[in-house]
Amino acid sequence: MAAFGTVFMPHMAFTTFENNHWNEATIVASDSIQLHPGAHVLHYSSTCFEGLKAFKHEDGSVHVFRMDQNLNRFDQSSRLLSLPDIDQAQVSKMILDIVEQYSADIPEPPGSMYIRPTHIGTEAAIGKAAAPSISSMLYVLISPVGDYFAGGSKPLRVLLDETGMRCAPHMGMIKSGGNYASALGPILAAKRDVQADQILFCPNGDVQETGAANFLLIDGNEIITKALDSSFLHGVTRNSILTLAADLGMKVTETQLSVDELLTRAAKPNVEAALSGTAAVLTSVGTLIHNGKEHAVGTGEHGPTTQKLRQALNDIQWGKAPDTHNWLTRV
Ligand code: PMP
Repeated sequence: MAAFGTVFMPHMAFTTFENNHWNEATIVASDSIQLHPGAHVLHYSSTCFEGLKAFKHEDGSVHVFRMDQNLNRFDQSSRLLSLPDIDQAQVSKMILDIVEQYSADIPEPPGSMYIRPTHIGTEAAIGKAAAPSISSMLYVLISPVGDYFAGGSKPLRVLLDETGMRCAPHMGMIKSGGNYASALGPILAAKRDVQADQILFCPNGDVQETGAANFLLIDGNEIITKALDSSFLHGVTRNSILTLAADLGMKVTETQLSVDELLTRAAKPNVEAALSGTAAVLTSVGTLIHNGKEHAVGTGEHGPTTQKLRQALNDIQWGKAPDTHNWLTRV
């Protein structure tokens, strides 16, 4: 299968914000946008996006997972970047319309249709280094996908980085392009220098998140992750896994987790660690690399609780378990 996110459906849903209002959304060719080279987004990174998925059930029906959560985050990102406020009802209809148009192309489980709403500042105004774009463009691209971590059956090797930062601390909760570009240097160095699959940013010893997923520690019956603040992305999968863990009777602890405590706990045999994200779902972390030393997490293998939680999430997404939390929107 092609690499994750490299295949696009030929059309996308599209709208623009001009003269203080959103125009009616249309369906246009996915490679059709026109942008002035002086567009605000190309100079001052006025851009945010979302990532969510639509799933095909055995009866052929199609369902988008937790769309309201992604729309709220999209709304929040747009606001915090001083882009025009989105119209959530409009974007929700754009998502459902474009997914419906291509429902026949949604891969069977474990595949799905990845949905990428994107909002960019389009005003051609390079003098606006310190002022917002008054116009913007919002489109919803869709991409059929399989597993994000190709060959992902092996637990991940993750480098703990206490000196670098993924992005500016007040920007972490915004899903903005600039955050991803700013994390690339350390990520590439980690891959090159210690063959890490991912880097876990732990500024000043505070365990935060990786470049594209949240971090969860499972210690026996307890699941531990960083409490929400503005420094990292509030993952929808993180929230879903914590909810399912509570459903299964686990103790959910949202707190500050230090690198020291993480390494101490990881040395115990019944401890597991995992990354959560729309693309990653829930992927086991087998090894933590810290100051040149490798630490196995628990047994270093896939943990049973990680697999149980991943399965519980997939079962809801794929319609194999009741949607008790009303997470699915039928297309
Ligand atoms: N952190 C970062 C930096 C991400 O890019 C993602 C993926 N969107 C996540 C966490 C996980 O978020 P979600 O579960 O909403 O996909």
